[in-house]
Formats: sequence, structure tokens, C-alpha cells
Amino acid sequence: MTHLKTLDGYFTEQRDEHLEQLKEFLRIPSISSLSEHKGDMHKAAEWLKDSFEKAGLENLSIDETDGHPVVYGDWLHAEGKPTILVYGHYDVQPVDPLHLWESAPFEPEIRDNKLFARGASDDKGQVFMHVKAVEALIEKMGSLPINVKFFIEGEEEVGSPNLEKYIEANKDKLAADVIVISDTGMQGPGHPAVCYGLRGLCGVQIDVRGAKSDLHSGLYGGGVANPIHALAEVLASFRDQEGTIAIEGFYDTVRPLADEERDAYKALDFDEEALKEEVGVTELFGEKGFSYLERTWTRPTLEVNGVFGGFSGEGIKTVLPAEASAKITCRLVPDQDPDDIIEKLKAHIEAHKPVGVTVTVSEFDKGKPFITPFDHPAIQAAGRSYEKVYNVPTAYIRGGGSIPIVAAFDEILQLPVVLMGFGLSTENFHAPNEHFHLENFDQGLRVIGDYYYEIAGFTKDELKK
Ligand SMILES: [Zn+2]
Repeated sequence: MTHLKTLDGYFTEQRDEHLEQLKEFLRIPSISSLSEHKGDMHKAAEWLKDSFEKAGLENLSIDETDGHPVVYGDWLHAEGKPTILVYGHYDVQPVDPLHLWESAPFEPEIRDNKLFARGASDDKGQVFMHVKAVEALIEKMGSLPINVKFFIEGEEEVGSPNLEKYIEANKDKLAADVIVISDTGMQGPGHPAVCYGLRGLCGVQIDVRGAKSDLHSGLYGGGVANPIHALAEVLASFRDQEGTIAIEGFYDTVRPLADEERDAYKALDFDEEALKEEVGVTELFGEKGFSYLERTWTRPTLEVNGVFGGFSGEGIKTVLPAEASAKITCRLVPDQDPDDIIEKLKAHIEAHKPVGVTVTVSEFDKGKPFITPFDHPAIQAAGRSYEKVYNVPTAYIRGGGSIPIVAAFDEILQLPVVLMGFGLSTENFHAPNEHFHLENFDQGLRVIGDYYYEIAGFTKDELKK
């Protein structure tokens, strides 16, 4: 563990200097969604490239895309050893409402050992940590125990519209054995987490049409189909009363939960009572036989997000409405495929639509789920690195949400993805007063440095997904 001691010495000695550098990076208002900041996007990319150079990364480039550029750098001198691909983003969210910020968003300030600025936690601070870990190892150990490639994009906050194309076009340049992303959160203060799976997403709008216009319910009521009733029947047919989804074949490709995963979630001691209080419900609801964490991380869902149609004004209107609509989304888990689920959803609607109405179904954007197997060495190694530095057990978690670009990495590059985050959910990402707890900055630097050594202990073959 001599490398940990060395890292510790270096990061302690350099701390003030490193924080000054990070503040410089944070002062560049790289808001990707606002065209007036196009120049700042380039400035941030240049700054990052310079920091790569200082760290000892090579083959540096600022790769133009149809949107904001990707910054690339690598260090490839650990012959025969695995390669880690580090992904992150240097763009940030807009800052309004400005008056709610205690200090200006692009004038970084440290208060109470927290660094306040837009991007402090999401994601400039975390990207910076990876750069500094490389710098420390090259400076103090003379080399890295593995190879690294960095590719840091500038469009994450606007949905990474050009990244898939970039990855497709640069498959060889980005070839690696593991991809590490530090853009997520820990389980809580002092409690690190490795996230190894995320849910996917698909959705539809259902439009039900009856008569060609609204009708008088006295003249026509009882003789012509009511689209709202028809829609309600279709919606009711999607799930049974226990929340199990009744669409034929919906669960066919759902990967069963391994015993080790169940145990890992149990070990988190999740407080379902506190959750009820927090969200204001008397009972939790969902599929029988699964805990709350299992339902929200490892099981697919079908939720009606909105229903509209008919009269909703003041008082009464005796109308037989002509149309009704609903918006529905499904969270998907490995190995469900969004296209396949949409087909099954459509077939179900077709089979359950009542007579006397027409039903049209239109699709929304889709995203695939992703998982790196729980027992994959790259996941377990991340857990060990956290434990060496934080001295508490690492939480192994999945996320209930969706980050479509992660699924794209998984699919195009065919690499195990390790989500190794150092943020906290209370750090106001995307909101006023974003900040980063500096104890996680300090500890994270050491965790990342150690992770390189952990990964160096495996052959490329052992890391294959
Ligand atoms: Zn982010």
C-alpha cells in the first residue's frame, strides 16, 4: 500500500494549490445549453487540455463534434496492462434563478469545507479529481500501473446529442477494458457507493377517439362509446391490484436478482418507515415479494404519467366527450429491450381496446437499461478502493433512473461500466448553491489513485464483460 501513503503525502501537500486550480476551472461559465457561452465552452475545453498536459497525459486533442467539443488525452505506457477509459463532462447547467445563490455561481467560494460553484460537484470537480490522480502517480511513482484514456464531453447537460456518433467514429481510439464515470452520488455522508446498473426507459401516448365531436349526454348517452371510459379500461388492464404488470411477455427477459445482490441491498438497512414519512404515504406499494429497493432498482415499471380529456371546468357539463388521452412510461431493467416492450405494449392495447372507439399509440424517446454484473472484478475492485480510504463497507447499488449515454457506452464499446461517484444528493446539482463536500474531494483523490492499482491486478481477460 505504499502508493496510498505516497498519494496521501502528495495530495496533502498540494491541496491548496489543487483547490486554486479547480476554482480556475469553475470560473469558466461553460453552460452548454446557452449559445452565448459558446466561447466559454472552448475556453473550458482548452483549460482541461492544459490540465491534461500538466498531469502528464499525451496525445491530447480537442475533437470537434456537431456541438461542443470532446477533450481527449491518454497515457499508454503500461504495456500489457488493462486500460481505463475515464468519461465525464466539463459543461454545466444554467444558473438561474441567480438571486438564490449565496455566492455567485462562477465565483467559487469555500465555506464550511464545502466548495460552492456551478459544476463543483457535477461534474468539473469530479473530472478534476481523475486528472489529479494521474498527475500524482506520474509525478511521485514515475508511472501509472495501468493505461488511461480520458474523454470528457461538453454536452452531457443537454442530453449528449453528438456523443454516440463520436464514440462510433472513434471506437479504436476509445478502446479500453473498463470505463469509469464519476458523475453520480454516494449513498450518504461517509458512505461510498458503487453503482453497477441503471434502468432504461420507454413510453407512449395513447389517444382514444369516439364520436367526431363532443355529444349531448342526454341525447346520446348510453348509446355511443365514451372514450374516457374506454381509456380507463385500457389503463386498468395494464396492472393487477398488486402492481404486477399484466402485459403479455413483459417480464420474459428480466434478469433474475442474484442472492448476492439481495444480500447487498439488505445490508443497506434501508428505512422504509422513514421513506413513507418523507413522501407522505401511509403504505408503500408494489410487486409482492420484493423490497422497496429491489422494486425501484431491479424491477420494471409501468406508470401512467398523465390522463386528460373531457370536461374539467367548474360545475357540471353533461357531455359525452369525443376524445381522451394518457401518457405512459416504463422503466426497464436488464435485459429488456425498449423496442420489444413498445411492441408488446401496443399489442396489449390493441387486444384490450373496447368497441366503438379508435386508439392510436405514439412513441417517445427510448433508452436501454444497463448492468455490469455485480460480481465483475471492476465493480468489486471499486468497492475495495473506497473501503481502504473511507474505512466503512461500500454500498453496491443500482439506480432507478436512466442515463441513456451509459447504455450507449455499454452497447457500442462493450465495456464494463463502473459508476464511481463522489457527490452527495444534498449538493444541489442543477440548482442554486451547488457545492462539493471537500472531504469527498480529498478522499476521492486517494480512492481513484488506489483504483488504478486495483485494476492493475487483473489481466485484460479477467476484465472482459
Ligand atoms: Zn453530471
